[in-house]
Amino acid sequence: MTEARYDIVLVGSGLGALLCAVILGKHGYRVCVLEKNRQYGGCLQSFARDKQVFDSGVHYIGSLGPGETLYQVFKFAEIMNDLPLEKMDEAVFDRIVFLDDEESYDQAQGYTDFADRLIQKFPEEAAAIHAYCDKLQSVCRQFAYYQLRDGRGLQEKQSVLDLPLKAYLESITGNTRLQEVLAGNNLLYAGEAETTPFYVHALVVNSYIESSWKCIDGGAQITRRLLKSIRRYGGVLFNHCEVVSLEEKDGKIDAAVLKDGRRIEGKYFISNIHPQQTIALTQTRLLRPLYRERITALKNTISTFCVYLTLKPGTLRYQNHNYYLHTKNGVWEAICCDPLVWPQTVYVFFGAVGGQQEYATTLTLMAYMPYEWVQPWANSFNTDTKPGDRGDGYAAFKKEMERKVIAVAARQFPALPAAVSSVCSATPLSYRDYIGTADGSLYGIAKNAHHPVSGFISPRTKVPNLYLTGQNLLMHGLLGVAIGALQTSTEFVDQAELLEKIRHA
Ligand SMILES: Cc1cc2nc3c(=O)[nH]c(=O)nc-3n(C[C@H](O)[C@H](O)[C@H](O)COP(=O)(O)OP(=O)(O)OC[C@H]3O[C@@H](n4cnc5c(N)ncnc54)[C@H](O)[C@@H]3O)c2cc1C
Repeated sequence: MTEARYDIVLVGSGLGALLCAVILGKHGYRVCVLEKNRQYGGCLQSFARDKQVFDSGVHYIGSLGPGETLYQVFKFAEIMNDLPLEKMDEAVFDRIVFLDDEESYDQAQGYTDFADRLIQKFPEEAAAIHAYCDKLQSVCRQFAYYQLRDGRGLQEKQSVLDLPLKAYLESITGNTRLQEVLAGNNLLYAGEAETTPFYVHALVVNSYIESSWKCIDGGAQITRRLLKSIRRYGGVLFNHCEVVSLEEKDGKIDAAVLKDGRRIEGKYFISNIHPQQTIALTQTRLLRPLYRERITALKNTISTFCVYLTLKPGTLRYQNHNYYLHTKNGVWEAICCDPLVWPQTVYVFFGAVGGQQEYATTLTLMAYMPYEWVQPWANSFNTDTKPGDRGDGYAAFKKEMERKVIAVAARQFPALPAAVSSVCSATPLSYRDYIGTADGSLYGIAKNAHHPVSGFISPRTKVPNLYLTGQNLLMHGLLGVAIGALQTSTEFVDQAELLEKIRHA
């Protein structure tokens, strides 16, 4: 690694940092990305088991249809041309299943079909379903960058931030099954009954109704193409580089110090890691105690347990849509993780290998899991860069949890247990160790309708050359992170000009 002084040093290589690096590289900045892991991409990493590819994080992606927001951002980043994507079934991207109900409920792409399919199941609720669709779209219009237009910051969205999702659904219909169907994929944003704001639901769900996609052979396809774009514009990236402090000199950050002692100097620094970890990297007095206390006190979303299955050839039909399987009251109670009935919600994702895929090769199952459940092994560490053994107790715990998750999935797919060829799983500790958060949180800071402003993180900090990006700014998910990257980038390039270029990419 050259020890040159870069224009911009980015800490972490999640989608947020990679997009900022391309955008700023294209505007002439000399950027350097520092990643602690071997693989770049953060939650956009893929891994292989039994010669099959799995995603550690991202499974399906919204808003990637021509002209839609993420499509335009990716086009500007020069990665859309050959990105291997598969459009999910237009008639159903998410199937919501209640395991005690013979009916299943499909969410379709396109607002007309979305509404029509639900009205077929709930004919007497047509007015509520139309009101819901209108509300989704009108709330999304309040978020300027989401629409790739200039915005006036927090002000213009203030009026929609404090509406709680569940209360809103209850206000439009007394039909609890319909309420549960509309919130049936709330694992997508770790929805909580009392606190999750409607806008979080709207921004996520709207993007999938616009259009829903999978990456063939894993989300790391996106990462690989972004790395190429960064290098094309003169940017450099270094893996195995854990930043352990951000050193201040004369009221500015002067260097990122790596675990091995090397100092990477820069004019500006953008942190793509959780704000709680970012403030811990610097002792600067410019970050006032009040700011530190506020950031430290913010609640994170819960963590997850993911089960990765390889399947015997020709045993389970491939389906180009997801399933959200709920046991009784799962939609709102699953997140409480009552050990006696866990898991109450299981997400099912069919991995895509492309072509006319008749049978599934892999299945990913996902359920909520609190960090406390893996606390007994909290002192261990295990990644592919720094392998460590968490012990037999941990292996037995995982095996038991895998069995429970597979048992719920088997209620929908009775052929599944016999179809499984191999199983592995990731716990909150896997996410903690790979992503570098304290608790393996699924989506970072939880937004709260009752404290709407406190969860909003500005890309600016009180250190004049230290900025933030990533899923903690506006929202998680690839679209949310892309919007966050635009917010951060406009600290360096003209907002109107950048948005214009992206709209016309
Ligand atoms: C299980 C799971 C499923 C998901 N499914 C979907 C989905 O289907 N669709 C969707 O759109 N979104 C999904 N998401 C959300 C999405 O993956 C994230 O919102 C997004 O990828 C986060 O990007 P980010 O820029 O915030 O960075 P992150 O992905 O959080 O990456 C941060 C990076 O910083 C690095 N880092 C941390 N500390 C240091 C340090 N000290 N020095 C150097 N590097 C460091 C980490 O190693 C990591 O690479 C999912 C997330 C999870 C966890």
